[in-house]
Amino acid sequence: MTLEENVSLAPYSTIRLGGTARYLTKVTSENEVIEAISFAKSNNLPSIMIGGGSNSFFKDGLFEGLVLVNKIAGINISQLDQTYILSIGAGEIWDNVVLESTKQGLSGIECLSLIPGSAGGGPVQNIGAYGQEIADTFLYLEAIDKTTSKKIQIDKLSAKFSYRDSIFKHDQNRYFITKIVLGLKKSSLEPPFYNSLAEYLKINNITDYSPGSIRNAVINLRNQKLPNPKDFYNLGSFFKNPIVSEGDLKVLKNSFGDIPNWELPDGRYKLSAAWLIDKAGFRNFHDIETGMYTWKSQPLVLVNELANSVNDLLKFRDKIVLRIEQEFNITLEQEPIILA
Ligand SMILES: Cc1cc2nc3c(=O)[nH]c(=O)nc-3n(C[C@H](O)[C@H](O)[C@H](O)COP(=O)(O)OP(=O)(O)OC[C@H]3O[C@@H](n4cnc5c(N)ncnc54)[C@H](O)[C@@H]3O)c2cc1C
Repeated sequence: MTLEENVSLAPYSTIRLGGTARYLTKVTSENEVIEAISFAKSNNLPSIMIGGGSNSFFKDGLFEGLVLVNKIAGINISQLDQTYILSIGAGEIWDNVVLESTKQGLSGIECLSLIPGSAGGGPVQNIGAYGQEIADTFLYLEAIDKTTSKKIQIDKLSAKFSYRDSIFKHDQNRYFITKIVLGLKKSSLEPPFYNSLAEYLKINNITDYSPGSIRNAVINLRNQKLPNPKDFYNLGSFFKNPIVSEGDLKVLKNSFGDIPNWELPDGRYKLSAAWLIDKAGFRNFHDIETGMYTWKSQPLVLVNELANSVNDLLKFRDKIVLRIEQEFNITLEQEPIILA
């Protein structure tokens, strides 16, 4: 295990902001994870594991603890009857996993193409896009339980996946995920597709629904809409889509007849956070005070242009949240995780 001291954390989040870690180590094996946990325990330090930092950031100031950056690599594919089992090191770049699986003609995660971050970060928020979620193909994962320093397996049921959620988000920092295991099929998706994907396929006369073809379509769609975090520092969607009661929706419709909404199985309604932000005047809104702005084709994405600190990001977030509260009486909830 190689320990670095007093490390700037900004390069470890795709928003390129954050304070300093007292200690940081890049782990490449289970043994190194166990060693790092032991170091933190014996020095009475908190420890946190991250992957690609595309859904998280640290606050400004000193994190008096140990950050483990997961770099455990490896994609192994085996076959059991009709299922292809992918065993993936949690530090693999997620999109490389999708690329490899589509190259083999395997279906199940092709719609999750181009989502930034690590494979291990996927189950934490049950990544999803264009109608697929990682939960759909998830078999189990392996992790080191920090409380016992022992290796454990967690299956799909125990992971309690739901919309952008899992136990790993709530019991944060208990399980250091070292491997994820997915089950894919050699097949192609069939219509009906998620609305925007269906539209793209139709407009471009694409009738090849093989995993590789769908991957290309998703990549093109995402490139049209979302900024590449390497060039425009961001964390993807900064807010979750709010959910309201039928009564609240009726009130909103009196003032905003065109408010987009989707009925949920429990009778409540999901609203579009992007629509609310846009309507409140925040599309492509450059905030001089904080150096932050909202992305032109997706105002849910907050981009760091000239921000100096996490404080600037949070100030900009609060401006948006306040305006939405004033205009719609809805409080937006943040999606990315503030780690410490
Ligand atoms: C441009 C852009 C587009 C995006 N699009 C989507 C999208 O379409 N759908 C979607 O669902 N998300 C999307 N995201 C969010 C993000 O890419 C995903 O949530 C991704 O899975 C995060 O992985 P990561 O490795 O970067 O996680 P990190 O940011 O490093 O960590 C996120 C959380 O997971 C924990 N964690 C990470 N790795 C481990 C591990 N090995 N063991 C234990 N805990 C761990 C961290 O402690 C933290 O709590 C997008 C982000 C960006 C920047």
